[in-house]
Amino acid sequence: MTESAWLGTLVATSYSPDQFPRGLLPEIAFAGRSNVGKSSLINALLKRRIAKVSRDPGKTRSINFYMVRADRPFHLVDLPGFGFAKRGKKERAQWAGLIEGYIAKRKSLALVVHLVDFRHGMLENDRQLQHWLSVNRVPVLIAFTKADKIPPTKRAGVYQKHIRDLPETMGAPLYVSTEKNIAVDELRKTIDDFLAALPEDFLKPRKRGDLKQK
Ligand code: GDP
Repeated sequence: MTESAWLGTLVATSYSPDQFPRGLLPEIAFAGRSNVGKSSLINALLKRRIAKVSRDPGKTRSINFYMVRADRPFHLVDLPGFGFAKRGKKERAQWAGLIEGYIAKRKSLALVVHLVDFRHGMLENDRQLQHWLSVNRVPVLIAFTKADKIPPTKRAGVYQKHIRDLPETMGAPLYVSTEKNIAVDELRKTIDDFLAALPEDFLKPRKRGDLKQK
């Protein structure tokens, strides 16, 4: 098996939908609670320190778009981490609005990779996200993060417990670790395979019809 390389460049940092780049590529968006390990995972997938790993959870409030050259090029979209309790109500509402608006309206969105801390499983905001995704019929893949924090002998049991009450997803959830390089290549391959299986005309109706749609 030849491993695919992803070459990523930042193309947009958006604080509101009018700052989104044109949706000319299928989009794979990464979402999860603040501090779940999203930036570390994006960096591991792209093999570059491109997303900022932060010790101050909840700092990223923008949606960052990376153009990725892969077998099938795509936009990797880094959604702001959610659920950080210290933030004010207004700020959290603004965040939720940005993420929810993106999920509900973005025609080029092909898949959301929902990151969930392997130690905690789904928490309330994760269920909220799952609800938005299901209402908007967005395909979702779940990746549990920081698997190295659970001892190897306990991982299978924790995994079984977490997946018991999950909604339907694209393929089986994975558990990954960037720290110990567990299943990062597998996740990249799963996304490559998903992109390869997307219809050629995935973006077509939007191009022909609604010119105002980004
Ligand atoms: P984000 O807020 O979701 O983007 O999370 P970051 O990638 O910034 O990571 C938050 C913290 O978790 C950092 O201190 C990382 O070093 C740590 N971290 C990220 N991934 C892993 C992992 O796979 N294993 C362990 N043990 N720590 C991780």
